[in-house]
Parts: sequence; C-alpha cells; structure tokens
Amino acid sequence: MSELRCDECPALLDDCAAGTLPDDARRALEAHVASCERCARLVHDYLVLPALVRRATDVQMPYEIELRLRRLLAGTRRREP
Ligand SMILES: [Zn+2]
Repeated sequence: MSELRCDECPALLDDCAAGTLPDDARRALEAHVASCERCARLVHDYLVLPALVRRATDVQMPYEIELRLRRLLAGTRRREP
C-alpha cells in the first residue's frame, strides 16, 4: 500500500477499531500517524480510548458474530428466514 492521505484515515480507523483492518493497511495507518500530528490526535480519540476499554473487558468477538451484529445494527437484514 502506498502512502496514506489524511482524508483516508477516518475510514481505516473504523476498521482498525473493529479489528478487521488488514495488517498492511494497519501498518500504513500507523506509519502515517507517526508522522502526522493531526491524525495522531484523531487516532488517540478514536482508537486508544476504546482500545483501553476493550482491553479492560478482554472481549474477543468471533468474526461471524461481529458480521451479524453489524448487519443487525445497520438494519439491512430485518427479515431473517
Ligand atoms: Zn494525516
């Protein structure tokens, strides 16, 4: 992955917070944040605080469950068979 732009960070943060961001994308994000004060602040607000909460509760959600939950929250599959 090539260099990240600031406006690409928020979308990646979403996946990163959910733990679904691929390793290479996560590394690109980390590299950008390391050299960009603006995004570093964004990451701190967006990732570090929730991550601390997750670590405290130590909850590991199976990917399948997470997908179902995301669909549920998005309200895209209201009528299950
Ligand atoms: Zn940036």
